[in-house]
Amino acid sequence: MTERVTILGATGSIGQSTAEVLQQHRDRFAVEAVVAGSDAVGLAAMARRLGARYAALADPSKLSALRRELAGDGIACGAGTSAVAEAVARDADTVIAAICGVAGLAPTHAALKPGRRIALANKESLVCAGRAFMRDAQRIGATILPMDSEHNALAQALGSGDLGDVVTMTLTASGGPFRTWEASRIAAATPAQTAKHPTYSMGAKINVDSASLMNKGLELIEAHHLFGLRPDQLDVVVHPQSIIHGLVHWRDGAVTAGMANPDMKIPIANCLATGRRLGLTVPRLDLAAIGALTFEPPDEARFPCLRLAREALATGGAMSAVLNGANEVAVAAFLAGRIGFLDIPRIVEETCTRSGVTSGSEPGSIEEALALDDDARRIAAGFLPEASAPAMAGF
Ligand code: NAD
Ligand code: MG
Repeated sequence: MTERVTILGATGSIGQSTAEVLQQHRDRFAVEAVVAGSDAVGLAAMARRLGARYAALADPSKLSALRRELAGDGIACGAGTSAVAEAVARDADTVIAAICGVAGLAPTHAALKPGRRIALANKESLVCAGRAFMRDAQRIGATILPMDSEHNALAQALGSGDLGDVVTMTLTASGGPFRTWEASRIAAATPAQTAKHPTYSMGAKINVDSASLMNKGLELIEAHHLFGLRPDQLDVVVHPQSIIHGLVHWRDGAVTAGMANPDMKIPIANCLATGRRLGLTVPRLDLAAIGALTFEPPDEARFPCLRLAREALATGGAMSAVLNGANEVAVAAFLAGRIGFLDIPRIVEETCTRSGVTSGSEPGSIEEALALDDDARRIAAGFLPEASAPAMAGF
């Protein structure tokens, strides 16, 4: 039977990898809707490539461009918030949640439907509103499947084991492109240098987060919500080869690891499979060719974003939302050449301090989380040079 799939963030790095997996299994999957931010040409191409029935752009000003691109293709389309809502409401068994940043929170939350599977790449949804999001998913009866490689590996390493028998979980980090750099060189890092990730090819924002180790910090918060473990049960080890993605430490001393070549198609295929695994034409893991797997502790002095995220996790969900909003503003300013690389942790830390958020405070709803995000963006924008209007969640 054909399974219907909708892709949020279809033109991005995860969207492209998802398309590759789906194209290897055309007989099994049909694409219902594809959603992107503002790239009409890219979305139209993706809609045609996957034979989608509906294409939606978040940016309402791109409606005529999208209509022009899709003219004669028989694919319905729309633009703006209501069009994105229409895309997530259409009938689909699985929704791939791969919008970048907190912009993904509302559409991903709206995609929660009884019996539906949400393959979650958009970690910022959980960082900003994890407790409310997971509570609503459970209440509605939607299944959240972790697509982030570390969390997908952890879910596989957990298998049918009992979470009560887990002592800790370890997430691995590649260490990013600046892993071996001295602090002075990191301070002068440019956006182009963050794009040289050692093991993955990804979108611009996650590239910066990987270079600063904020990505790993966000992933600790994501793991806390996905697996329900306490902050002290989650840790990070740097593993530059990115072959082991996650480790589960059991109470009897056994450790199970999730391993694979660093290729997002592998966790994507794992999320798309129901029951038996999907076949995938990817190179086999060849440990003898790799030779050595190495590990080192993360250096929070050179990479303070990891410490800031751990502190936010310990403080509570409201602080995580503030951390995430401030980071998005700072990363956008860094990518625009307005601030230096180490201004990112500085702005995030000052925003967290200024926010007035207290320990244990949790957003009770998506709206409350988005209000915290708004506040954080306003505070963070005040730390930018020539601060004008607060930076908005971008397309
Ligand atoms: P990307 O920048 O390559 O793509 C982002 C996608 O989101 C694009 O299709 C863009 O058009 C769309 N988008 C942006 N703003 C939007 C809006 N307001 N409304 C609707 N669509 C919007 O990002 P990516 O690297 O594919 O990452 C996507 C998400 O997956 C992020 O949350 C990231 O942390 C997570 N993730 C990515 C990877 C990876 O390897 N790229 C791995 C793990 C997790
Ligand atoms: Mg990851």
